[in-house]
Amino acid sequence: MHAYWNGEILPLDAVRVSPLDRGFVFGDGVYEVIRLYGGRLFYADRHWARLARSLQALSIAPAPDPAALEDALRQLIAKDGVEDGIAYVQVTRGAAPRTHAFPAPPVAPSVLAYVQPIPRPASIDRGGRAVLYPDLRWQRVDIKSVNLLGNVLAKQHAVEAGADEAILHRDGLITEGSSSNVFIVKKGIAFTHPATNAILNGITRQLVLELMGELGLPVVERPFSIEALWEADEVFITSTINEVTPIVAVDGIPIAGGKIGPWTAAVRAAFSDLVERVRIG
Ligand code: PLP
Repeated sequence: MHAYWNGEILPLDAVRVSPLDRGFVFGDGVYEVIRLYGGRLFYADRHWARLARSLQALSIAPAPDPAALEDALRQLIAKDGVEDGIAYVQVTRGAAPRTHAFPAPPVAPSVLAYVQPIPRPASIDRGGRAVLYPDLRWQRVDIKSVNLLGNVLAKQHAVEAGADEAILHRDGLITEGSSSNVFIVKKGIAFTHPATNAILNGITRQLVLELMGELGLPVVERPFSIEALWEADEVFITSTINEVTPIVAVDGIPIAGGKIGPWTAAVRAAFSDLVERVRIG
């Protein structure tokens, strides 16, 4: 396995990260996870736009050039022979003596990327099980930062409960999943949390909103309550890794009889078409 590290392609275990790197010390960095289908990047442009936004929000500069990153990822895909998997890209503020404030003068950001194969999660087809968990995270989760403790604790809770995902709630409202966005369908209308600072605006979420327009499913971007989740006709989550995954049970209780609903099936089929288009090239 190889990695791109500050301009070079190296064996992964030849990468040397400074113990003073602010990503390591403060979680002072951002990242992207891009899907690979058939060795091709899935909607990379949208990930580069979100990476640029995250970097700008944290004043990490200069931002790496997306064309250079894509070139590096293509080399990594070829070297490591990855077909279906992910590309991980991380940019931290760089290495500097420890003090909370930004280094002055600024230091060069540390840029890491690698690709790895991942099998398609079984829950995409069989339906996933979720548990509810309080949203403990900070108030700028629209920035895709490597500070993920709230997400880590939520996902661990899900795993220990034998579930696939934790659905987060704050003040009685559903925000998103620990690593996904959440949609419900009720009486032929879809609802999802709006893209505020309280959620990460998922690339899959954005694609699904567009597909819903094409499918003629009205969608309202408005926070919905835990009660609305329980009473939903259909629930599904979206993410780069889990695509469009139906949620068939929450806290062990079946949602809408534990069956995958017709709108969820339609959105999944439309999303699979996008995947096949990229895979074929
Ligand atoms: N929300 C959170 C907290 C995430 O970590 C992720 C992805 O990992 C998502 C939503 C989904 O985003 P995307 O569709 O861009 O993968």
